[in-house]
Amino acid sequence: MKRENVSILGSTGSIGESTLDVIGRNPDHFRVVALSANRNIDKLAEQCARFDAALAVTADPSLEQDLSNALKQAGARAEVLSGDAGLKEAAGMAETDIVMAAIVGAAGLQSTFEAARCGKKILLANKESLVIAGEVFIAEAKRSQARILPVDSEHNAIFQALPQDFEQGLSAAGVEKIILTASGGPFRDLPAEQFSEVTPEQACNHPNWSMGRKISVDSATLMNKGLEVIEAHWLFNAHPDQIEVLVHPQSIVHSMVAYRDGSVLAQMGTPDMRTPIAHALAWPRRIEAGVERLNLALMNDLSFEQPDLARFPCLGLAFQAMRSGASAPVTLNAANEVAVDAFLDGRIGFDGIARLVGDVMERTAVAGVQNLDDVLEHDRQARQTANEWVANFYG
Ligand code: NAD
Ligand code: MG
Repeated sequence: MKRENVSILGSTGSIGESTLDVIGRNPDHFRVVALSANRNIDKLAEQCARFDAALAVTADPSLEQDLSNALKQAGARAEVLSGDAGLKEAAGMAETDIVMAAIVGAAGLQSTFEAARCGKKILLANKESLVIAGEVFIAEAKRSQARILPVDSEHNAIFQALPQDFEQGLSAAGVEKIILTASGGPFRDLPAEQFSEVTPEQACNHPNWSMGRKISVDSATLMNKGLEVIEAHWLFNAHPDQIEVLVHPQSIVHSMVAYRDGSVLAQMGTPDMRTPIAHALAWPRRIEAGVERLNLALMNDLSFEQPDLARFPCLGLAFQAMRSGASAPVTLNAANEVAVDAFLDGRIGFDGIARLVGDVMERTAVAGVQNLDDVLEHDRQARQTANEWVANFYG
């Protein structure tokens, strides 16, 4: 196996750190060339020193000098860049073979798209890029022959359970449907009347997974599963009728593929993102990921149930956006990002997230999307509508 060069977009986050952990266990297979962060300069500098990265990027241009100082102090040799141009350089630089796209939210779109434009092997954690720019993104990856390997645990599981030639079409491959599992989040059994009292700390306290704050809140509203439904639609070229969601509170079966002959293939493992990360890094080979092994003999209770769309309307809104297509997923995602920020800052309640997203979708006409600029413009407009909604919340 040739040693491959890796750029990590969002290296200071939960996925970024897990990626560095797996790379650290497999130094003969991978070398870090570029790392990036939003504003956590000290952690970024420490990572650059530890992995001897050639390039360090902060998304915030006003922190360039601070980053240079922090690198010097940490004894790192990395060159410094910043802003969108810096992130794009990290994604597209000639030395890079693999790009781990692990920025959170639509903020990751342009750099992830640059990796597609440059034909890189893209390890996709940043699901929001695919949700909002699916058609444009997939077309660009096809043109440049970029390979997209899913890191999201459900999509990675489905990828493992599909035949290699699934790109010819799921039906042709004998697939009837793909079944995404959802943990149900921390409020799986909480009555809807109590949703207004939920605090950000409770929402971020996921029962099975340790993740960044935004995706933790998305898991609590089931918007995360909704975004994943749209992600699966694009990744696997799946018709909306071929995608199902099942709540599986133990998070051991990471997703399933159901075939025409009645077979159902599942991928299982302990809930640790280092497994899908290691799978995507080394694909089609297998490497050590450092995870606890699954002991099925100790598991006497693997259960599955239908999601409750009445208590978790975000999931239904996402299915609706997928079926509408065009700009609808952009509106859904932008409204959700504004809503999650507002909830985390205490400006709206937990129950306000679904109401905000539903209202903004109702107020926004669905329009065509031809290119990245269209995506960015719809994203901007939906954020504006959503911010007005938040401003009027207590009015
Ligand atoms: P996180 O908040 O822990 O980390 C986000 C990273 O992105 C950080 O490095 C941060 O510095 C960087 N970042 C934030 N805002 C930025 C901006 N405006 N510009 C540039 N960089 C910015 O998030 P995470 O939990 O690691 O999630 C990252 C992505 O992976 C998300 O899209 C999430 O949905 C997806 N994902 C995460 C998990 C998980 O277990 N954490 C699982 C599946 C998918
Ligand atoms: Mg997931």
